[in-house]
Amino acid sequence: MADWEAELAADLAQRRADRLYRRRLVVEGPQGPLIQVDGRQLLSFCSNDYLGLAADPRLAEALQDGVRRYGVGSGAAHLVSGHSAAHHVLEEELAAFTGRDRALLFSTGYMANLAAVTALVGRGDTVFEDRLNHASLIDGGLLSQARFKRYAHADADALRTGLAGPAAGRRLVVTDGVFSMDGDLAPLAELASACADHAAMLMVDDAHGLGVVGADGGGTLRVAGLSQRQAPVLMGTLGKAFGTSGAFVAGSEAVIETLIQRARPYIYTTAPPPAIAVATRAALRIVQTESWRREHLQGLLARFRKEAVGLGLRLLPTATPIQPVLAGSVERALAWSAALEQAGILVTAIRPPTVPAGTARLRITFSASHDDAQLDRLLDALAHLPEVADVGQ
Ligand SMILES: *Cc1c(COP(=O)(O)O)cnc(C)c1O
Repeated sequence: MADWEAELAADLAQRRADRLYRRRLVVEGPQGPLIQVDGRQLLSFCSNDYLGLAADPRLAEALQDGVRRYGVGSGAAHLVSGHSAAHHVLEEELAAFTGRDRALLFSTGYMANLAAVTALVGRGDTVFEDRLNHASLIDGGLLSQARFKRYAHADADALRTGLAGPAAGRRLVVTDGVFSMDGDLAPLAELASACADHAAMLMVDDAHGLGVVGADGGGTLRVAGLSQRQAPVLMGTLGKAFGTSGAFVAGSEAVIETLIQRARPYIYTTAPPPAIAVATRAALRIVQTESWRREHLQGLLARFRKEAVGLGLRLLPTATPIQPVLAGSVERALAWSAALEQAGILVTAIRPPTVPAGTARLRITFSASHDDAQLDRLLDALAHLPEVADVGQ
């Protein structure tokens, strides 16, 4: 073996020894509460398909219709010849949905975040990020070459202290709307007020909020009542509640045109298939009209929280479909996840470094497509988790 290959193998062996090794499941059919893995049916509580739209036949029909009208590939980047009428009209509808002047589509949320942060700040500027921000926001901050400052999780006072420091260049404050591992909401009104007092821009990644949070699915910014002026950069993903794929950034004319002109993850990549945009338009209509999906989800969440607390499980204070159950040690989280899998239930164990040491957990996520009997199965399995001492890290 070449030296470099031996090094890679040693590193992988170390990950295995640390019980940090990750494996992929091969899912055989469509997404849904029941998925087929290795010929076995599992009840899944770990997808981000919050409204149960990923396998909705109306989306599949719209996608097929899109393929009939636009073919499969977009053929080029948006700035060359890949920007289709399907993309364009979806952007207009997303702008209207979010109450922003304009919206701009991206192939993935990861790229949208790299694009927005790197286009809005650079060398000589400063980016402030919540410690628990999604990896793509952190990576965008690092790639931008702006001064990089993290503030304590969901702590607007800590942000204020940072913003009160020396101010050269532009300042961009970046936060998740709903934090992906804890399920809690950012204190958006306080963050926006700190930004207003210090002439900083606020960017909110609402990947887990749009479509889910608020009676109309308008997301965390709508619930906080923040206008485009107060929260000028809104990022949303389409692969979670919307059930399709891709993402968008919404904001003012100046923000969106800056992204089009400057954002390398926008300029140097092939536009997503137009048919995906057609399917996403169908999803947007369902998100806006079928509020029973959010109501059903809230019913499941309320019952889960009440009964899980009754079982003595440690939950976090959140009303979102992301419901972590704290285990503590990696060993305990893995043993719990394995026990659930034995019972035919799929729930991922989240370990450091994704979460802080000592806070390994089960990350349970709910979907509007779960029914009460499936929740009963989950609660019954949680009532029979094995005893595992909470030792180690
Ligand atoms: C999933 C996620 C992303 C990335 O979106 P993709 O479309 O999956 O690339 C970005 N931010 C947050 C908070 C997310 O949860």
